[in-house]
Amino acid sequence: MSSGDTKLSQVLLIPSSGMGHLNPFVRLANALSDRGIAIYLLTVRPTITAAESSLLSSLPSSLLIDFPLAPFDPSLFPEVSDPVTLRWEAIRRSAHLLPSLISTITPPVSSLIIDITIASTFLPVAVAENIPCFVFFFSFPSMLALCSVFPFVPHPISTDVQIAGGVLNIPYSSIPPHFRNLNNLFTTQFIENGRALTLATGVIINTFLALEPELLAAFNAGEVVPGFPPVIALGPLPLEKKQPSSPSPALRWLDEQPEKSVIYVNFGSRSAMTMEQIRELGAGLEMSGCRFFWVLKTAKVDREEKEVEIEELLGKGYVKRVEERGLVVREWVEQDVVLFHRAVAGFLTHSGSNSVLEAAAAGLKMLAWPRGGDQRVIAASVLRSGLGIWPENWAWEAEKRVVAAEEIAVKVREFMADEKLAETAAKLGAAATAAVQEGGTSDQSWRYLITKL
Ligand code: UDP
Ligand code: UDP
Repeated sequence: MSSGDTKLSQVLLIPSSGMGHLNPFVRLANALSDRGIAIYLLTVRPTITAAESSLLSSLPSSLLIDFPLAPFDPSLFPEVSDPVTLRWEAIRRSAHLLPSLISTITPPVSSLIIDITIASTFLPVAVAENIPCFVFFFSFPSMLALCSVFPFVPHPISTDVQIAGGVLNIPYSSIPPHFRNLNNLFTTQFIENGRALTLATGVIINTFLALEPELLAAFNAGEVVPGFPPVIALGPLPLEKKQPSSPSPALRWLDEQPEKSVIYVNFGSRSAMTMEQIRELGAGLEMSGCRFFWVLKTAKVDREEKEVEIEELLGKGYVKRVEERGLVVREWVEQDVVLFHRAVAGFLTHSGSNSVLEAAAAGLKMLAWPRGGDQRVIAASVLRSGLGIWPENWAWEAEKRVVAAEEIAVKVREFMADEKLAETAAKLGAAATAAVQEGGTSDQSWRYLITKL
């Protein structure tokens, strides 16, 4: 990645917070740079998570521009415990500082690409400054559809949401419970951001046409929201298919496993199960008899992760009992490497948008266990597209219900034995590869975007 002053387009990227946002932004930045666009990345420090901090420090410092925020008092939102949502709000409330910051950048910024979570305050500033402004949306087109129609449905929401006259039905049960509460900060941000989207020059989305073709067509025919800006599906953004110079013990363990034999279990960077559910999952993986590689988190924010021994969580003797076929780790893993590893056959995922897209790009079948937010909407898309299965009765995070070990074991076994699913997932993986090749649908989207930056 590099910035250069001889290039024509200078694009300022403005991520908000959370690894699920920074990771795709960095991938987008790399891809833009590869296409000859000069880029800058606005950063707010200190970051909320250690993972973000470490990713930022791996980038050339010449690309990073500090964004000092306006004073922000989190006690205004006593009901919000999630530091990431609070950071989004702090950035949202600093949009007025953008013009003076941009005026110091040379050569001048020709367009902006901003995070969806800050859209409603930054888009009006961009319009006033007459700078083209694209919104980067991280989730699936079905979630973009919910985001764009949600401001206009009767509130509080109490029914399914129909998109484009039935192209898509989003069941009430998939809509995050906090969307019923109009006093919830995330809900108000979601509504305001959704309403502002028509101000965008375009909406960039890290997906490929074959995943949700009818819906993308409906968007661009103006059937989801009239006057909606172009939806630019340019994914999957390239992953860094790097082998670390000294493979971690976890990757070395994977290297020793037979071809296509392991289920990889990871619920992303922001989900943590209750201790009771963790124990049931541990027992379920053991009972399944399948080989597994499980990244076990107990805290939502990595800096708050306590140093607890695995056996303290899963019971004495667990590690030894499963050692022939199971590995549990408590650290961040290079998921982009793991998903492409020859030993990995399937992915038990929380259905975070990045995780699902990364696995789709790898042609890997998924067992979806959505935990919150947009994850049920995405799990439904995983199911529809043939990428995976979704046991719809499995509880999400806010529910107190625990999914029992026996049920997990049966489902994991069934999933791992499902050859047909592996085949359809592999076909979608091939479609993802074709989409980004010259002349493919995502390549065409890229060409369009470059002309507009
Ligand atoms: N989102 C949105 N508008 C907002 C905030 C979020 O459309 O104002 C979308 C965005 O794509 C995000 C998704 O909703 O990724 C789900 O948000 P979640 O709470 O799961 O947080 P995240 O996974 O992004 O950290
Ligand atoms: N990730 C990773 N290693 C981990 C956990 C997560 O590399 O141990 C990456 C993952 O590849 C993805 C991002 O962190 O790019 C998580 O984003 P996602 O949208 O899947 O879920 P979120 O963490 O926002 O819930």
